[in-house]
Amino acid sequence: MGLRRLPQNMINKIAAGEVIERPAAVVKELVENSIDAGATSIEVHILDGGQSLISVADDGCGMSVKELSLSVERHATSKLPDDDLINIRYLGFRGEALPSIGAVSQLEIISRTVDAENGWRIKVEGGMITDPEPVAASRGTLVKVSNLFFATPARLKFLKSARTEQNRIIEIFKRIAMANPKIAFTLSAEKKQIFNFLQPIEDLLDERLRRLTAIIGSDFAKNTIEVSASRDGFNLTGYAGLPTFNRSNSSIQFLFVNSRPVTDRMLFGALRGAYQGFLASNRYPVVALFLKAPPDLVDVNVHPSKTEVRFQDQGLVRGLIVGAIKHALSEGGYRTSTTVTEAALGSMKAQHYQNITSPLHKGTLSNKNFQTGGFQKTLSTLTNPNDPLPFLDQAPSAQNNTATPSHNFTENKNSYPLGVARGQLHETYIIAQSDDGIIIVDQHAAHERLVEEKIKKGLSKGGLKTQCLLIPEVIDLSPEDCDHLITNSNELIKMGLIFEKFGASSLIVRETPALLGKFDIKSLFQDLADDIKTYNEALSLADRINSVSATMACHWSIRAGRRLNADEMNSLLREMEATPHSGQCSHGRPTYVEIKLNDIEKLFGRT
Ligand code: ADP
Ligand code: MG
Repeated sequence: MGLRRLPQNMINKIAAGEVIERPAAVVKELVENSIDAGATSIEVHILDGGQSLISVADDGCGMSVKELSLSVERHATSKLPDDDLINIRYLGFRGEALPSIGAVSQLEIISRTVDAENGWRIKVEGGMITDPEPVAASRGTLVKVSNLFFATPARLKFLKSARTEQNRIIEIFKRIAMANPKIAFTLSAEKKQIFNFLQPIEDLLDERLRRLTAIIGSDFAKNTIEVSASRDGFNLTGYAGLPTFNRSNSSIQFLFVNSRPVTDRMLFGALRGAYQGFLASNRYPVVALFLKAPPDLVDVNVHPSKTEVRFQDQGLVRGLIVGAIKHALSEGGYRTSTTVTEAALGSMKAQHYQNITSPLHKGTLSNKNFQTGGFQKTLSTLTNPNDPLPFLDQAPSAQNNTATPSHNFTENKNSYPLGVARGQLHETYIIAQSDDGIIIVDQHAAHERLVEEKIKKGLSKGGLKTQCLLIPEVIDLSPEDCDHLITNSNELIKMGLIFEKFGASSLIVRETPALLGKFDIKSLFQDLADDIKTYNEALSLADRINSVSATMACHWSIRAGRRLNADEMNSLLREMEATPHSGQCSHGRPTYVEIKLNDIEKLFGRT
């Protein structure tokens, strides 16, 4: 083997293997160069998923003829003026994008600075650089990359279909556009415009939210909560989706560090942590978060395409993200996503058109159903004097009058976001009237949520208060279940469950959490044993406690099917308003939906 220095062109091709993995990487490098050049408008055009052509035009600072020649040489960069790799102020700094692209494509660059009389053009083909020639050009730079990978057939084979490559370009383009809301961007493919993100209009909506809405859709603003937090020079801003506004994959999770889109594992892990307990593990929240980090505390030079970052203090960053999102979500409290309501409305609409076939508005109740069927029957049930009526205007029946504090909720109804309870349907749903709509609460889900929050609160204060059972209860379980419970008794003691082993397959329970009152102890212990079996190894301690609190909450919750009186219903509503995260149960399902009067009017064709 003869040892030798590789020719420059070979080195560039090798570097291209890392930096220019696929067409989307070319788009990323070129658009980032335009941003670094101070452009206010960037136009991207592609053909065949970028393989035939990628062109990027900007109105940035441009390059002089000398700079132009240098720009395609390896390790030439204008972005490390002080040789300082710590305080990186530009997106680029490695000086390898243009030479790498030039090594594997036909590259043409036309550029003109503001004070030059004309522009200059340079071409690179398979690594061969031409002399610059003068051309007419407007200020800024136009980079055209044709026949990408023609010089590296192996890479060419590795490309996916044009559509797949185009989708990858779209993904990266969207992320860059999100991070730079002040810059106008357009993307066109096969001469058709796909995106046109305008420059911000002053005094209109927050410019970042406007850009995010343009990219993600109009649901985004309605279903997210603003996040803003700082710690030790790190600053996190952006938007976190309500847990009920979730997706089945992580494609709507956008994370940025110092304006760079990143796909960092640690950061995605922090997101998961922040939504822990509000989302089932196979659902993903929708977020767009922007982290500003002191440049000397984050290393962006970990990966050639700079999509991963390394923080000096990972714990701090994780804590900041988890804390900020949790805080935002608890401020959002009882909110649940509008998409849930919209979906419900959609189905109501369908029902409406299917069921009502005869014209009712003529005053003749010609619909058969109306005379003999459901509606009348419902009415008579509701007015049956023997039934404990859940309606507010009726006196609550004695048997339902539990210890719930009694308030006069009819007064001052306008001040309640979740409205005033008007009735209970199917012993499962509470119907309340708010200022401008109807609220339907799933009483079981809502109550379960409230109890769970109480349990968590109790735990954070060091453990749940217990009550001694007058007569300790002996419960029989399988020996295996008994073992599971005994091994975890330290955790369960904190949850207010005091018990001991009693023979090989029984436990004796002496104390239970005071807030649960009376409940079926045996079935709770059985469920806990099942939980422990399923989750013990899979979940961390914190997650395990969450799952145990959920199980306990479920045991105490007002089951669907229980009648509630007006006071009970109203105290549930008020408690929901006062409790963080009450808008969704621990699986991310909503605990209530709201239907606005406007929408009801639409259902009836009034608008
Ligand atoms: P890097 O961006 O890491 O410096 P590149 O190979 O991407 O490396 O670019 C090399 C140099 O070419 C840049 O440092 C910059 O000076 C110049 N350059 C590239 N694209 C543009 C552009 N669109 N406008 C002005 N200058 C540019
Ligand atoms: Mg660059």
